[in-house]
Amino acid sequence: MAGSTTISNTSNLSKFTSLDQNGCIMAEYIWIDAVSGIRGKTKTLFKEPAGPEDLPEWNFDGSSTGQAPGDNSDVYLRPVAIFPDPIRQKPNIIVLCETWNPDGTPNKYNYRHDCNRVMEANKEQVPWFGLEQEYTVFGVDGWPYGWPKGGFPGPQGPYYCAVGTGNVYCRDIVEAHYKACLYAGIKISGINAEVLPSQWEFQVGPCVGIEMGDHLWTARYLLHRVAEEFGVKISFHPKPIPGDWNGSGLHTNVSTAEMRVEGGMKHIESALEKLSKRHKEHIAVYGSDNELRLTGKHETGSIDTFSYGVANRGASIRIPRECAHKGYGYFEDRRPSSNGDPYQITGIMIETICGGAPSE
Ligand code: ADP
Ligand code: MN
Ligand code: MN
Ligand code: MN
Repeated sequence: MAGSTTISNTSNLSKFTSLDQNGCIMAEYIWIDAVSGIRGKTKTLFKEPAGPEDLPEWNFDGSSTGQAPGDNSDVYLRPVAIFPDPIRQKPNIIVLCETWNPDGTPNKYNYRHDCNRVMEANKEQVPWFGLEQEYTVFGVDGWPYGWPKGGFPGPQGPYYCAVGTGNVYCRDIVEAHYKACLYAGIKISGINAEVLPSQWEFQVGPCVGIEMGDHLWTARYLLHRVAEEFGVKISFHPKPIPGDWNGSGLHTNVSTAEMRVEGGMKHIESALEKLSKRHKEHIAVYGSDNELRLTGKHETGSIDTFSYGVANRGASIRIPRECAHKGYGYFEDRRPSSNGDPYQITGIMIETICGGAPSE
């Protein structure tokens, strides 16, 4: 496998991280590239910003990231959210940005822009989301971290929510990421080891509207960044290992204001009715290679058919048992794949169940 195999030498770096910054702030501007990767570069600021609107716009060479042609390569970075930086630590910050073209249109890969318009148009419904981000950790050799070199661990069974040597893979990395998210103010709601050895999950939510995509993308950035320190790679591929091994999803838990109160079940049912009519449109933006995962096996529904059921992990949509019992709450869309874009997923969800944004 191509790529650098040099692991960052954090113990040497730590001597420098405590040096005085003379009042300056390192702002890591991050953005999403053409292939759902994350890029970032740093700017020195001379005072602490009060909010994203207080931060300067910036730009980058879009021809180097597949986001612009070489003859018109500037892409602009517009700050939209600020997080304390757990890597460099306070007062340094991470600045999540939208990407914009020089002609004032959103970049092709700026899915946040449309998502935000849909969320704004349906603000009174106060949409809540909770995303369950599954991922797999790989060594630099391209084989899952901790697996026997070129071989396979024992079959699935002992690894899900596992405790104990032999059953647990790479907990150090996962714990570091959890702490980093808490430090950054990400609304991370938990973690668990998954069914495939060296596969894990973290949950972010409940988040309101556009905040869901902002927090999940920043949590993904932090995961890649933490992984650098450990010399491992994070894969969001929905079927990292072919065969009788679980894939990775991005289960999307959803509720609107009227679903969360008594009598909410009829609003959940009406949402499911609308969702059943747009299965294909949803699948189209629920991540790539998802057909390798949504086979109807390994706790998934089939990619070709829409289905739902109470406590059914083999359906497209699951209504949690507790919610069915109470008669209100939320539902879980199990279709999105781990590499899906949360802006696209939450955007189409609210468009389908609440209605689209007025045209620009
Ligand atoms: P699972 O049982 O499918 O593994 P998890 O506990 O991993 O579920 O994740 C559930 C997610 O749903 C969490 O992120 C949680 O914050 C979120 N959630 C809980 N209540 C709601 C709600 N009313 N609306 C939207 N999301 C919710
Ligand atoms: Mn879960
Ligand atoms: Mn899971
Ligand atoms: Mn789930």
